[in-house]
Amino acid sequence: MQRAILNIVKKWKISWKPEYRTFRCARCQKNIRKAWHVWLKYGRFKTEVHFCGKCFKKTAPQTRGG
Ligand SMILES: [Zn+2]
Repeated sequence: MQRAILNIVKKWKISWKPEYRTFRCARCQKNIRKAWHVWLKYGRFKTEVHFCGKCFKKTAPQTRGG
């Protein structure tokens, strides 16, 4: 599951500037008001990833309720 998310994150152009914007699903880029927040950690890099309900189920079904 971390691997799947990592592949998504790698596609982003990561900016370290602060950003004020709406949530977007990491997978389908849909604007979402409520999101699943998933922490992704690799090496010393840690980031929060947001998913809509649909994509969360597809990407990380085994983490539900945990
Ligand atoms: Zn989505």
